[in-house]
Amino acid sequence: MDDCIFCKIVAGEIPSKIAYQDDEVFAFHDINPAAPTHIVVIPRQHIANSAALDASHALLAGRLIVAAAQIAREQNLVGSGYRIVTNTGKDGGQTVGHLHFHLLGGRAMTWPPG
Ligand code: 5GP
Ligand code: ZN
Repeated sequence: MDDCIFCKIVAGEIPSKIAYQDDEVFAFHDINPAAPTHIVVIPRQHIANSAALDASHALLAGRLIVAAAQIAREQNLVGSGYRIVTNTGKDGGQTVGHLHFHLLGGRAMTWPPG
């Protein structure tokens, strides 16, 4: 999608530090990390956010979560734990309009989130 930062990252038009990629999923280190490990996991195809998901996305949504779990293992986060979160819309704190899951680890998280 034109003017989508994450579509440009997937296309290589904006450089990123890639953490994982396959035919449908792409993951890269967040430019402004909120934790010692902060990786953004996204679909290659443009989907606005979790509110745009329907049954046709069930397999892809599963692949995104499974990829995040695999990356967490590769980043040695399993023993200490980690958080996977997706912000949706204004109140959810979403700033980039391309579906993404944050994988955060390397420090203790608080709950509830702010
Ligand atoms: P959101 O606020 O939408 O949940 O998450 C967007 C995330 O994308 C933020 O954590 C932000 O730091 C990250 N981000 C925004 N632009 C870029 C970029 O150009 N490169 C990388 N690597 N991360 C970005
Ligand atoms: Zn996009």
